[in-house]
Amino acid sequence: QQPLVIAKNLKKHFPIRSGLLNRQTATVHAVDGISFEVKKGETLGIVGESGCGKSTTARLLIGLIELDDGNIIYDGDAVGSDISMKDLRRGVQMVFQDSYASLNPRLTIVDSIAFGPKIHNMKDPTGIARDLMTRVGLDPERFANRYPHELSGGQRQRVNIARALAMSPRLVILDEAVSALDKSVEAQVLNLLNDLRKEFGLTYVFISHDLNVVRYISDRVLVMYLGEVVEVGPAEAIYENQAHPYTASLFAAMPSMDPDNRTQEPPLAGDPPNPINPPSGCRFHTRCKFAETVCGTAKPRLSVIGGDQDHLAACHIQDPASGHSLAAREAAE
Ligand code: SF4
Ligand code: MG
Repeated sequence: QQPLVIAKNLKKHFPIRSGLLNRQTATVHAVDGISFEVKKGETLGIVGESGCGKSTTARLLIGLIELDDGNIIYDGDAVGSDISMKDLRRGVQMVFQDSYASLNPRLTIVDSIAFGPKIHNMKDPTGIARDLMTRVGLDPERFANRYPHELSGGQRQRVNIARALAMSPRLVILDEAVSALDKSVEAQVLNLLNDLRKEFGLTYVFISHDLNVVRYISDRVLVMYLGEVVEVGPAEAIYENQAHPYTASLFAAMPSMDPDNRTQEPPLAGDPPNPINPPSGCRFHTRCKFAETVCGTAKPRLSVIGGDQDHLAACHIQDPASGHSLAAREAAE
């Protein structure tokens, strides 16, 4: 089956002013040549520290910002030639972290949800909106004529989800969509998202800094570091058997759900290097305890790890061609 999304060599560099009096310009390598696929009906989790390019990737996928290089193919259609940005914005919807900022404070809930269908001349926008309110757990009799400030954060995020679904999207991108919610509300919204995905045959890209949440909802996980993909694979493989040293330290720093099982491994030391001037070779070599000379000079390629064709990592000591493995290295230490 053809993937819903094929992203090839996506690049986005932002010019910024820097230096004394802001007279110099520099370039932030926000997304630097990443490739990945999103399969139909799956949830692809994207993780990484802040500034790794997760949100820029989301904005590229939805056409909010333009690509500097690379291309995106949706279900066989290339963005820009086969499908327009306008089609893209209808077929791909996004839910953001701030549930309040995403809503027009002067529109009632039902009008907010009906807004998109109205603009796109869909039949019976209000009917669509009321039906979706029911499906996301907001009784239209009680909530249709309320305003965003009269709702809780969790209720507002349900409105944002309904607003996204009102456009009958193929892909929904959730960028830290549950991160501002209390833990109990977060769990309810995650369950709602899972139910809606099955019911509407949706595909999700789920971006979060919270690895426990990503594990709960994702089928596959993509790990980014300084604008690049360092590892991608089935969620289980990524959580049980990290291949890339960066992924391993990210997970070692993750607070365990089980208080008896807190890891002794120290969290990842220091901040990520500046994306204006990313390290040469493997971008993780300045923080990697396995780094060798080659790591500072040659960029490792994403390659299949072990027997699972779906599990890839970009690391010299994991590349089967180099003949040694992280496990062997750790045993020898
Ligand atoms: Fe560490 Fe080298 Fe692998 Fe990069 S390529 S993660 S520096 S061992
Ligand atoms: Mg972000």
